[in-house]
Amino acid sequence: MTRIYNFAAGPAVLPTSVIKKVQSELLSFQNSGMSVLEISHRSSLYTDMVQEAEADLRTLMDIPANYDVLFQQGGATLQFTAVPLNLANKANCIGLIDSGHWSQRAAEEAKLVGKEINIIASGANSDYTQLPQEIALNQKYDYVHITTNNTIEGTMYCQLPDVENNLLVGDMSSNILGQKYNIRDFGLVYAGAQKNIGPAGLTVVIVRHDLIGQVSGLPSMLDYAKQVTKKSALNTPPVFAIYTAGLVFKWLLELGGVDAIQKLNEQKAQVLYDYLDNSKLFKAAVAKKTDRSTTNIPFVTGDAALDARFVAQATENGLLNLKGHRLVGGMRASLYNAFPLEGVQELVRFMEQFEQTVG
Ligand code: PMP
Repeated sequence: MTRIYNFAAGPAVLPTSVIKKVQSELLSFQNSGMSVLEISHRSSLYTDMVQEAEADLRTLMDIPANYDVLFQQGGATLQFTAVPLNLANKANCIGLIDSGHWSQRAAEEAKLVGKEINIIASGANSDYTQLPQEIALNQKYDYVHITTNNTIEGTMYCQLPDVENNLLVGDMSSNILGQKYNIRDFGLVYAGAQKNIGPAGLTVVIVRHDLIGQVSGLPSMLDYAKQVTKKSALNTPPVFAIYTAGLVFKWLLELGGVDAIQKLNEQKAQVLYDYLDNSKLFKAAVAKKTDRSTTNIPFVTGDAALDARFVAQATENGLLNLKGHRLVGGMRASLYNAFPLEGVQELVRFMEQFEQTVG
């Protein structure tokens, strides 16, 4: 059985060793005679497992004790609703850094629950090929929302923007655990699991404890205070996704943690950017080097028909899911934590060949 190189933006590649581990204990989880797919979320088999996953995530991200870690469902998209409901209640207004599609989606959903959105910075004038430059903080916000990595546009914050004394909330869906951030700089971060954490169906929320429990009457599933009290098991949690995420955390700890994987991610991204910057055929969508994502790298030829030909031929050669997001077209290589360096080298070799046949 050969494994292909999977450049998908999410659900995305997982470490092969993790998948093998899942396979090896799928019939009997910890010698219980039951599969992890079958165990009760009220059993100690589950509670021990989830506690260990949380402890490992705390170590990986250096999460202080005054932050709660929640394992939720509904994807990052449901957090577009939950975060404003829990945190935007004094000014009723959110300062939004508009860095592309997913930050706009966060704004749309916050508006649906009656919150005002004030765009304090936007990348629109560069068509989102750059991070927003100027930030205009002109009133009191409950929090400022940023998307730390823009999965579609391919831009990423290496340094967080200065939001003065405003509370910062980060959607880290596409670079959590791949890029080092100080959690103390945020009031809350959230991330869908299906990129750097594990399978879809799990969403991680990390929130400073003093920020929650300030609103009454929220729907229970969206109420962080209730979720904390119930240890993320207010209803049946996504046991299998949490279990797999726990294995991914152990894999990452063994590799040396976020510092080590960030270096590897930079190395992988450099291989592709170096090629793109010297190619006569392909061009990186994000020209400004300091704004470039290490996890999602969009690129184009400038000719849609040629792009399609490239994607088709790449697929035939075992390089899968390189088609760009429908909003921007072209190609996109997603190089998440579990994506191997050899896969990027293989892609570059293939691009060189393709360039020769076209040129
Ligand atoms: N935010 C970002 C940055 C994303 O990349 C995505 C998914 N690609 C989402 C939010 C939405 O995530 P979900 O599908 O988990 O709701």
